[in-house]
Amino acid sequence: MTSQAVPTQAFSRNVSLMRSKVSRYAVVGVFIAIAAIIVATLLSDFLTHSSITLAGLYTTQKTNSVLWILDGLPFIFAFWGQYVSSLIAYETSAMVTEQTEELRSQTEDLERKMMHDSTHDLLTGLPNRSLLVDRMQQAIVVAHRSDQPLALLILDLDHFKEINDTLGHYQGDLLLQQVGLRLQNALLPTDTIARLGGDEFAIFLSTLAHSDDLKIILTKIKKVFAPPFVLKENMPLNVKCSIGIVIYPTHGKDADTLMQRADIAMYVAKNSQRDFLYYSSKFDQHSSERLTLMAELSQAIANDELVTYFQPKINTATMEVTGMEVLVRWQHDKLGLLLPDQFIPLAERTGLMAPLTIWVLQSTCRTLEQWQKEGLSIKASVNIAVQILLDPELPEILTGLLASVDLPENSLMLEITETSVMKDPDLALAVLHRLREIGIEISIDDFGTGYSSLSYLGEMPVSEVKIDKSFVLEMLNRKKDGVIVKATIDLAHNLGLKVVAEGVETREVARKLGSLGCDTLQGYLFSRPVSATDFKQWLVKFNAINA
Ligand code: C2E
Ligand code: CA
Ligand code: CA
Repeated sequence: MTSQAVPTQAFSRNVSLMRSKVSRYAVVGVFIAIAAIIVATLLSDFLTHSSITLAGLYTTQKTNSVLWILDGLPFIFAFWGQYVSSLIAYETSAMVTEQTEELRSQTEDLERKMMHDSTHDLLTGLPNRSLLVDRMQQAIVVAHRSDQPLALLILDLDHFKEINDTLGHYQGDLLLQQVGLRLQNALLPTDTIARLGGDEFAIFLSTLAHSDDLKIILTKIKKVFAPPFVLKENMPLNVKCSIGIVIYPTHGKDADTLMQRADIAMYVAKNSQRDFLYYSSKFDQHSSERLTLMAELSQAIANDELVTYFQPKINTATMEVTGMEVLVRWQHDKLGLLLPDQFIPLAERTGLMAPLTIWVLQSTCRTLEQWQKEGLSIKASVNIAVQILLDPELPEILTGLLASVDLPENSLMLEITETSVMKDPDLALAVLHRLREIGIEISIDDFGTGYSSLSYLGEMPVSEVKIDKSFVLEMLNRKKDGVIVKATIDLAHNLGLKVVAEGVETREVARKLGSLGCDTLQGYLFSRPVSATDFKQWLVKFNAINA
């Protein structure tokens, strides 16, 4: 039975119900009229002849003209009842039909909207994952018959999390909308552009004459990201993306496999800082390794499989070692010594940054305590992830840790990034003020790479700024880098802060930094990050040379 047949039947039932109701009232009217005629005839006969007889009744009916009018009443009632019931039935059915039509069109609109919403992304209006997979499955059936290639590209924006954290979700959403719009304008309507969630987009090409045509598409995507995106207060933002590419049927014969492999290719492209990569079966090992590592990391923290390495910080003027940065490594039983880049992103994604940071702090305190017993006191700078910086308990955790090993508060310095402060400036500032009160110094790490404004720097209770190594490494060859380094040193000094340059690899750079007034140097020129034992040996040698 169709959905329309049901309401039509229901109307006719309702209409006849109405009609029979009206007719019933008309029948009652007819009976009342007949009763009135009988009573009037009897009364008239009695009043005229003082008795009631059959002949008298007949004469009364024949001669009394008022009764004739009364006699017409049942017919009038019967006709009127029929007429009114038809009229009401007609009007009601017209009204009900009209309202039902309206209701039906509203329901259809709602169904259409629900259908659209379940297959589209609400933020960008682009097709979502399920619609994309649907279209891929249909295209695969056709392509299988016609021997045509298909292509799927997965795009992931670089540093979107930082943009979101720094500028806020509203600006992050605006950026996603702009990316969606630009992609739609650049590509053909026959290409499906979908948003898979977060900052991940997909482009599915079902009308690829030859896989070489992909070059044209990649050039178009490059152009999409070339002009800066304008978000907050006309601030232009350069955004890039990493792309993973798969071709049907070469890299997979079904939608799920293609999606999975494009995702793996995208991930490898991002990690190797390539704009795009075609899937290769070599990547599979990489991705399963990543999953295994993620599962193992929490155990590694609990089982003390992490190791702290140290890199010296040297006073530019006196060549004295003023402190050291603590850099974590993972001594993996099968994969060897892993660098932070290989597991910190995993820790961030699995919520392990807090236990990892606490582990590093505890291990550092133990090392400092041991060295102090041996007569060596040195200040340690520990990198603090945002998750723990924004923990209001941080000052208490630190005083507790230091007290347990009998070390003064100024044995520790914390390196935080601008980005982590910008995530929640009020809370971060409150925590930083508490830390300063108890004597723990703060350094702003990776200075110059964040998106935040310099105006915050003046307000923050920090004592040191670390110029990011990306500006220091090539400062003698890239004029712009040199300018940034000089400007940062001047700005920090004007605010009464000390300046550290990290990534100092050559004497020339060290000399230049000295002439610019940079206070402290850190880099491979002096030492790479090394284990505690190696650090102590290095220190003895370095001090002997500079004595
Ligand atoms: P970072 O805080 O900017 O650390 C400095 C990085 O620069 C270190 O890399 C260091 O080995 C490297 N480096 C030092 N001198 C030079 C040089 O002269 N040339 C070059 N090219 N590089 C130099 P590493 O140890 O791989 O650490 C990478 C990042 O991982 C760190 O960057 C930091 O953000 C993070 N990280 C390391 N340990 C920890 C930790 O315990 N906690 C947290 N939250 N993050 C950590
Ligand atoms: Ca650091
Ligand atoms: Ca840095």
